[in-house]
Parts: sequence; structure tokens; C-alpha cells
Amino acid sequence: MNKSMEEELIRLKNDALAIIWQTKNLADLENLRIKFVGKKGKLTLLLKELPKLEISERKRLGILSNDIKKAIEQAISETKQKILGEKTEQKWFDVTLPGILPPDGHLHPITHILHEVLDIFKSLGYQTTETHEIQTDFYNFTSLNMPADSPSRDTQATFYLDTRGTKVTPGEILLQTQVTSMQVPIMKKTKPPIRAVMPGKVYRVDSVDPSHAFDFWQIDGFVLDKNIHMTDLLGTIEYVLRKLYGQEIKIRFDATNFSFVEPGVQAYMSCTICKQKGCPFCKHTGWVEILPAGMIHPSVIKTAGLNPKEWGGFAFDLGLSRAAVLKYQINDLRVLTNPDLRILRQF
Ligand SMILES: [Zn+2]
Repeated sequence: MNKSMEEELIRLKNDALAIIWQTKNLADLENLRIKFVGKKGKLTLLLKELPKLEISERKRLGILSNDIKKAIEQAISETKQKILGEKTEQKWFDVTLPGILPPDGHLHPITHILHEVLDIFKSLGYQTTETHEIQTDFYNFTSLNMPADSPSRDTQATFYLDTRGTKVTPGEILLQTQVTSMQVPIMKKTKPPIRAVMPGKVYRVDSVDPSHAFDFWQIDGFVLDKNIHMTDLLGTIEYVLRKLYGQEIKIRFDATNFSFVEPGVQAYMSCTICKQKGCPFCKHTGWVEILPAGMIHPSVIKTAGLNPKEWGGFAFDLGLSRAAVLKYQINDLRVLTNPDLRILRQF
């Protein structure tokens, strides 16, 4: 008996909603209200059966009936609003009133700087290639001179994908830790000379603080051609940075080491946040690391199936989140992932 009462309640709800939503005038709507939830309405009559049931069933079906009553009343109220709204719309419309404009959207600071950087590289003849957030261990590390036992992997704490229950070897698929992971695939696919930039999001296990995030944007790029020298690399970096931050910035280079370049350089730029007076962002040195780069290691060129004696080039990496922070003088990386629109409207 209880089962049938439950069924009856649900059938009543479905019937009521279907007919209420189709109603086009207020008088019919009022009749429906009386028919279903009025003092002698169908639902009210069903509720009168409740005291005959066992306590536990009474409670359960009592809650259900209450929910159904609310749903029917809400459908009636919404349909009423709809009918009234249509009436007013038909009644009067002032064509002389100014229209209501939808609010303007804003580009995110990362998108702004992404467009700007891509435009600069486009003007230098670079092609843009998309990167894959999910990448193989081979292209992310091994092909870039970072075999499984390479200590340089430790600097890029990695999110590996859970491949249990698949045929993929554990540890073979990961979230890319660097967009350079596209370098060898592009070299394999494209006939040199090549000038390419690869923007994309990268992921590294890290705790979030003002200058660290676990996901950030990068643009990497490389040139592969004949007779490319270190001076070409330094000239390119200087040109791009001055285009982006203005002629007045100071730039200096230090020698450094990355697995997939030889030799490697680190480009530093005068801190745009404090104008070299010293601030927490530049650790009070007046200088910020902006662009690691170097001449592509011959073994990377070999992995791509090309002859390193014939082809050579340079590669560089621009951290876009960092670049945006320096461009818009934001002192906390977390601002870039804050969903508060008031922040975004400033850019
Ligand atoms: Zn500073």
C-alpha cells in the first residue's frame, strides 16, 4: 500500500508540473493551484491518508509530500511570473530608451602578455605551435638530455598520470613540466630551417606562495638553422625584452647549465617593480632572472634524427606568469589565478 502511495505522489507531481508549465493564463493557473494544492486539492487529500501508515513510513512519505508541494508551488509561481512578464512586454515598449549593453569582457593579464610576446616573435618570423599538457616522459625529459637517472629531473618535481588498469608503463605519461617537450617532436616533423615558439601551461609539484605556483604559463622557442651563433641568441633575447619592457631596461647575461643546451646562459633584467631600488620580488638585488637559454645540445638534434654537424641553433624559455608580474608590477603570483573580477578589471 505504501509503495502505491509513493507512486501516486510521484505521478501526481509529474502530472501537475507538466500541465502547470504549459498554462498560458492566470485564471487557469489559479484553478490548477486549487486542484493540486488547495484545501480540497489532490495532494491535500493524499496527505490525509498519512496518519494511517506506520511511523517510519509516515515520516518518509511526509517529507516526500512536502517536497512535492514545494515543487508544485514553485512551478506555479514561476509560470505566473512568466505570464506577467509576457504581458508587460506586449503592453509597452519605449523605443527611445538607450539599450542595456552587456558588460565588456577583459583579457586576463596572462592572455595580454601571451598575445604581445607572440606578436613580437611573429615579427621575427617564428611560427607558433601548440603544446600538449599531457606528454610522454620521453619527450618531456629523455629527448632533452634528461635520462631517467638525470639529477636535473629533480628540479622539476613531476605529476605523473595514474595509468593503473591500462597498458601504459607506470611513469610514462605525465603533465608537461616544460613546453620544451615539443622541441624534438617539432624537429622531427618540420624540415629545417625552423623558427618556432611553443606557448603552453606547465605543471610542477610545488607549494603555492607569492612567487611559486604548481601550474604556470611558459613560452619556449628555438631556432634550428645553419651558422647560428651565441650572438644570434643574445641579440634575440635583448630585442624581445626591450620590445616587451621598454628600451630603458638593463639586461645582463650569466653562464649557466641546462641539460638540453650547451653552453647555457641566464638572462637577467633590471627589476621593473622597484626600478632597481630593491624589493622582495628581486630579493633586494635589483635584478630578476627572466630568460634561461642556450645553444641546443648536439645530442638533442641527434635524437630528432638530424645531423648536429650540419644543423645547430638556440633555445630559450620565457616564464609568462613571471613576465606578466614584471610587466604589470604585480607583487604576488597568486593574483594571476585569483578569480576575483575586480582584480582582472585593472588590466
Ligand atoms: Zn625589485
